[in-house]
Amino acid sequence: MSNGFGPEPRRPTRAVRVGNVVLGGGAPVVVQSMTNTDTADVKATTQQVAELWRAGSELVRITVNTREAAAAVPKIAERLAMIGASVPLIGDFHYNGHQLLAAEPACAEALAKYRINPGNVGFGKKRDSQFASIVELAARHGKAVRIGANWGSLDQALATRLMDENAALAEPWDAGRVLREALIRSALDSAEQAVKIGLPAESIVLSAKVSGVQELIAVYRELATRIDFALHLGLTEAGMGSKGIVASSAALAVLMHEGIGDTIRISLTPEPGQSRTAEVIVAQELLQTLGLRAFTPLVTACPGCGRTTSEFFQQLAQRVQAHVRERMPEWKIRHPGAENLTLAVMGCVVNGPGESRHANIGISLPGTGEAPAAPVFVDGEKTVTLRGDHITESFIALIDNYVQSHYQSKEPGHAVGDPSAS
Ligand code: SF4
Repeated sequence: MSNGFGPEPRRPTRAVRVGNVVLGGGAPVVVQSMTNTDTADVKATTQQVAELWRAGSELVRITVNTREAAAAVPKIAERLAMIGASVPLIGDFHYNGHQLLAAEPACAEALAKYRINPGNVGFGKKRDSQFASIVELAARHGKAVRIGANWGSLDQALATRLMDENAALAEPWDAGRVLREALIRSALDSAEQAVKIGLPAESIVLSAKVSGVQELIAVYRELATRIDFALHLGLTEAGMGSKGIVASSAALAVLMHEGIGDTIRISLTPEPGQSRTAEVIVAQELLQTLGLRAFTPLVTACPGCGRTTSEFFQQLAQRVQAHVRERMPEWKIRHPGAENLTLAVMGCVVNGPGESRHANIGISLPGTGEAPAAPVFVDGEKTVTLRGDHITESFIALIDNYVQSHYQSKEPGHAVGDPSAS
């Protein structure tokens, strides 16, 4: 049980090895993401996978939908290895995965995990044989499999059967509950079938994604009581911008606070021209905010109000957050632990000194009518007062000095940006 403050203990699940990453079995919750390039375009896909990996994605999923895409996978893996990007690749298969994996054994070998959707792995009589082909190939190549059921591609035969069974009950469930049960059963029955075919239970990850927050919470709570497979969490089709971030965070925060979930993906629709890495940053910030993992120092900043007459404090908060994010790949190697640093940038004397004292380093900028001076607090003590035109540079230098003096200095042993370095 929870101590009433932090998250519940992690729900015990089977550990699944995916390349150099472990999902479940008590391992830290893993951040993953997915590309939106044409996988057949080796150059563009390699670049985007590397970009996601540098941002901190510990697993990256790529679409494998055509023979050309399947043939490109080993080339992408090779190019990533050449630049030191040691990120396991997950192949996303729908409809024709059995054919692609059989036709392109180098693809089957280069991927660390296969994602299959029981709702569209095959239809009618072919469904079971096509599912079995993929599972047999995974077992033969020693790969993990995510059985990912999805509300948008629910196994219609199963849903219809459960609806009919439900209608015959003396006290039938409502339709929403029957559909949730169909989604859960689709994932569970497929996992059972995969084990019978010969895939070890320690190679199976489950997901059952829906696009509604309350439904997702209900589905995963139920899944977590029924099985001990590692669970992949994500709200499907979360949407764009703040809507997607809020919906994903609301659903995943509740579940992870209850100890449910071994890996997460935030399915954000990027704004046109926006980097795909936004979904990685949101996933990291969510885990860090919940106190489950630490990736980058987070800046506490007040919202500003009528007591702040300029945008300076907003610009300072933005510069400080950007600076620590930029420096983190190097700090991770040379100054492990720096990701736990806490910072505060506050707009006036009302809450400024108090909030700044709670941070490792905090600054309280002058509000309207206050003397043009910005006291800095280090570990609760006021150490210096900054004035003039170079407050930003001086404050950033104080942060850099704090990191160097407080977090053990180490020689680099990994490539910069390597998420496996922690
Ligand atoms: S700390 Fe000062 S400037 Fe910031 S929101 Fe509070 S009162 Fe306004």
